Amino acid sequence: MRILVTGGAGFLGSHLIDRLMAAGHEVICLDNFYTGRKRNILHWLDNPYFELVRHDITEPIRLEVDQIYHLACPASPVHYQYNPVKTIKTNVMGTLNMLGLAKRVKARFFLASTSEVYGDPTVHPQTEDYRGNVNCNGIRACYDEGKRVAETLTYDYHRQNGVDVRVVRIFNTYGPRMLPNDGRVVSNFIVQALQGKPLTVYGDGSQTRSFCYVSDLIEGFIRLMNSDYTDPVNIGNPGEYTILELAQAIQGMINPNAELIYEPLPQDDPKQRQPDITRAKNLLGWEPTVHLQEGLKQTIDYFRDRLSQDL
Ligand code: NAD
Ligand code: UDP
Ligand code: UDP
Repeated sequence: MRILVTGGAGFLGSHLIDRLMAAGHEVICLDNFYTGRKRNILHWLDNPYFELVRHDITEPIRLEVDQIYHLACPASPVHYQYNPVKTIKTNVMGTLNMLGLAKRVKARFFLASTSEVYGDPTVHPQTEDYRGNVNCNGIRACYDEGKRVAETLTYDYHRQNGVDVRVVRIFNTYGPRMLPNDGRVVSNFIVQALQGKPLTVYGDGSQTRSFCYVSDLIEGFIRLMNSDYTDPVNIGNPGEYTILELAQAIQGMINPNAELIYEPLPQDDPKQRQPDITRAKNLLGWEPTVHLQEGLKQTIDYFRDRLSQDL
């Protein structure tokens, strides 16, 4: 098949492309390199079945493809809050353009949505039926509400235009190829510990997240895309940790003497988050296989290499 991956030079997109290329597909990677890097896809540039298009999805584009994995959107709060209006444009106009494309060429459309559609959840763990608790005018809204509109558009194109759609709600995912300055918690703590800097815990560190290793997530993407299930599906690892526990785990693995410092908790920071993955288990036969310790080890090895090369 010929497959378009928007945001393909980013963290998740580049891992997805590795899987699609290995399976023998033709891949078009579309990216504006806002948070993506050419180095993530460098190993495919000479392959005749791979094509890189530098393009901003807020502008229309005409391509001919069979499937679209739509991932383009900055995912780290630091990056999506840097230019919030652009984040909304990417989620709304960008998703509209990709759905217009899917409609025109009759491609199957896969939206990378997020656990952020649940906001600061009052239901725990979160099932796909939960409608969320999102502040529509806070600093996270450009992303949370942007993704909620992206889901709305996706289902309206499905109902109104018969576009074949898949929607994954991704919970915090980590692994190699996150940017050292990505700003998300796993990469921050690892890079800080490797550089001998204090680990910055926001708030008292009692807020929780559930961390999924990237290879598990990508397996879930491929199974969902190739299933016949149209409703949203949570993909994430139900193993839930406080941020303090995560800091201590990384401290223990890199430098037991690393200092922890406490910084203010950002506005609207969700207190807890854990996926209910019953739907993914029943419909896709999917569940995560990589334990946090193992995934962290892989990620630490990556950053250790990466930081030594950049010196
Ligand atoms: P990332 O920032 O590494 O990748 C996003 C990619 O999109 C980058 O390559 C960036 O350059 C590109 N991009 C951004 N705006 C664009 C635009 N206007 N036009 C073209 N390209 C653009 O983030 P990621 O972690 O790989 O996330 C990928 C997708 O998964 C995002 O949609 C994100 O919202 C979603 N997601 C990720 C997580 C996670 O934990 N990693 C959790 C929930 C949802
Ligand atoms: N679009 C695109 N590529 C295509 C087809 C459509 O970028 O191959 C864009 C198009 O420019 C429009 C959006 O997708 O801005 C929605 O397209 P649709 O055909 O649904 O709406 P319309 O063009 O009728 O407003
Ligand atoms: N966080 C932290 N220190 C950091 C970066 C993040 O304590 O250096 C916290 C953040 O406040 C949040 C959690 O870790 O409670 C996860 O943050 P991240 O930005 O990775 O993702 P999100 O908040 O979008 O889940």
